Amino acid sequence: MKARGVKISLEGIDGSGKTTQLKLIEPELLRLGYRVYLAPDNSDASGKGIDGSILRILRKGRDRFFRLGYPTTESLLLAARASFLDERDTVPKLERGFVVICDRDIDTFVAYGLVSMVAKYPERDEKDLFQWLLSLVSVGRTQPDLTILFKPDLDTFLNRATVARGRGKRDRFSSKDKIFIRSVCRYYDWLAAVNTSRIRVLDVGGKSIQEVSQDVSALVVPFIRRYNVPTSE
Ligand code: ADP
Repeated sequence: MKARGVKISLEGIDGSGKTTQLKLIEPELLRLGYRVYLAPDNSDASGKGIDGSILRILRKGRDRFFRLGYPTTESLLLAARASFLDERDTVPKLERGFVVICDRDIDTFVAYGLVSMVAKYPERDEKDLFQWLLSLVSVGRTQPDLTILFKPDLDTFLNRATVARGRGKRDRFSSKDKIFIRSVCRYYDWLAAVNTSRIRVLDVGGKSIQEVSQDVSALVVPFIRRYNVPTSE
């Protein structure tokens, strides 16, 4: 069956404001009469199917980026989990006309995965590793129709923000964290450069939650209207 719904992903580094905006756009879309499905993110290990089993394996390393030191295996497992969820949940929801919103999707998989792959295989060409990760999301995955890439002002963000270290503890970014985050951003930029019609880069630097929310609505609502996504009335 042809999809009648639309898939939208919010992408960007940790702390760039995605979840905050997700919580604002969801009720707005519901008010407009759309049916909304929020895809589970990588922190949701509660799944009773293959998805939960895979995430529980990856979480044994207790690393929030799932870096157990085996990035090829980790990438394949994360890709398998996401394909399973797509086939089981996302595709049927799209066929039924839902607006599917993903708090991170294929671009985070590629950008974060690439940092780990490059660290593991420094002798390999970065672009080859990039292509390998892209190939893992090109088949057996629904592609987002629209992606909003949240782009903070990185220098300000890295100087001000703190990172969760577990048990409610927060630290300032270490220089290692900063290198990691800059690499992720560079790879997000690569993705935006090769997906110009899908990915809208949203500059969130210095903007209030309300201002970003207006920007997100201005991108999402007309996009969904253009797709003629059915409302529940
Ligand atoms: P993400 O989901 O991208 O990791 P969050 O939405 O959880 O980011 O936001 C991280 C923190 O930044 C939260 O404490 C949130 O309240 C705050 N925040 C989000 N957007 C803004 C903004 N535009 N200005 C100031 N603080 C923000």
